[in-house]
Amino acid sequence: MTRVDVHGHTVLRQRLLDSFEKGSLPQSMLFHGPAGIGKQALALWLGGVLLCENSPAPCGTCRHCRYQQALTHPDFIWVFPRPRLKDSDASPDEVKMDIAGAIAARVEAGNLYAQPPGNEGIYVPTIRMVVRAATVTPALARKKVIVVGDAERMVSQEGSDQAANAFLKLLEEPPANTWIVLTSSAPGALLPTIRSRVVAVRVSPLSPAEVHGWLTDPEVRDRLNDAALPSTVAERVALAAGSPGRLLEAQAGKAAADIARRLLDAASVGDRERGTRLALSAGSSGARGAFTEVLESLATQLAERARGAISEGDERVARAVARAIEDVEDAKALAYGNGNPQLITFSLFDTLSSAFAGRR
Ligand SMILES: [Zn+2]
Repeated sequence: MTRVDVHGHTVLRQRLLDSFEKGSLPQSMLFHGPAGIGKQALALWLGGVLLCENSPAPCGTCRHCRYQQALTHPDFIWVFPRPRLKDSDASPDEVKMDIAGAIAARVEAGNLYAQPPGNEGIYVPTIRMVVRAATVTPALARKKVIVVGDAERMVSQEGSDQAANAFLKLLEEPPANTWIVLTSSAPGALLPTIRSRVVAVRVSPLSPAEVHGWLTDPEVRDRLNDAALPSTVAERVALAAGSPGRLLEAQAGKAAADIARRLLDAASVGDRERGTRLALSAGSSGARGAFTEVLESLATQLAERARGAISEGDERVARAVARAIEDVEDAKALAYGNGNPQLITFSLFDTLSSAFAGRR
């Protein structure tokens, strides 16, 4: 079974446990610290502490702990940036379905994930769902725990909005059985009205020994893509610089650059069949983040080709590549507007192919 573990942060975890046992754990908290150090993993762990029915918590064996380990506890609500749903008036149940799918994908990936792409956010229907979840009676446990990851990406935090107001009220006076943890690597981007209602908890980067422990955990080790990372553990520890997420970003970036390079190669020889396969994989479901990275990488690689063509004095190709870069920029705009990644890539492949056709 997939485990969702927290690594390191031992001193902070002990401090949180002490407050929990004394009954003084604040009900509205903000975990802040650099990206990729495991703030959400820590919040999931704390959720397990709060929901567990044994002492000392988390016991790891009661039904609450078991549900929490699989991230299927009905009294645990975890939200984070997602693509905007087509229906801007999506019901709380629709939001729950969408986020349940995204959580299942994170569990499946051993909770190792790169940052959500920039076009994803925590939109109003999600905030409404969270507010509503806070008002209902716990289904199974005596408490409810709500975690809002990358909270600075809550869209429409303005006080004029009804959902935002209800959310502020929730932070200020959570129901007696409800704990809320926001996490952010950019707490300065949160509205002051939010910051003033939460107890800030600073989360530090992991020590080199803790990163080493993370890297050598068999569950983690099996999931890392060796081709995308430095070969030795020591080099990986150095690249992480206290943030395992940095390695996951490097891995995601490398994968996207690979697809972009193969797509360009296929376009430059006009191999439509291969282009189609690559378009399908670039746009496969759940990989929208990776898709926008593929486009970013395409733009970078095309710019390199344009420079190459100019230095070879091949103006015609340089102009064609410059036009192709504009097409990639258009495709990026479509992707950010939730366009279909496969269709975008198919059409882009054709444009790139014709841009390179003169060379064949
Ligand atoms: Zn337990």
